[in-house]
Amino acid sequence: MKELVCIVCPRGCRMQITEENGSLQITGNGCKRGAAFAESEIRDPRRTICTTVRTAFPDVPVLPVRVSKEIPKDRIFDVMAEINRTTVNTRLGRGDIVLENVLGLEADVIATSNILKETESERRTS
Ligand code: SF4
Repeated sequence: MKELVCIVCPRGCRMQITEENGSLQITGNGCKRGAAFAESEIRDPRRTICTTVRTAFPDVPVLPVRVSKEIPKDRIFDVMAEINRTTVNTRLGRGDIVLENVLGLEADVIATSNILKETESERRTS
């Protein structure tokens, strides 16, 4: 049996999951979303990444980025290595793609800030 705390809503149900003949028995969940979360966590756990990437611009040395959708949990370190190998050398804005289809995972690494596009005086006044 495996125990899991649901993180889908603040109630934080503590679920018990057992596997019998390939099917999962889930108890302790307060709603169907918890069962779906448990199933995903057992069969195909996924996570998002929010981090920063290096830039070539001394005024903004790092740019905040995230992945466009959740990626398999066991590929997080590989994607982080790709991000850490990357230097942004154009002034990208929020939503622009930094790494397209990173490692073939059908997720892009995208900028989450316009800080590279803003002038220094705009940054000082905001
Ligand atoms: S099982 Fe449902 S009620 Fe419980 S924490 Fe998850 S989403 Fe919330």
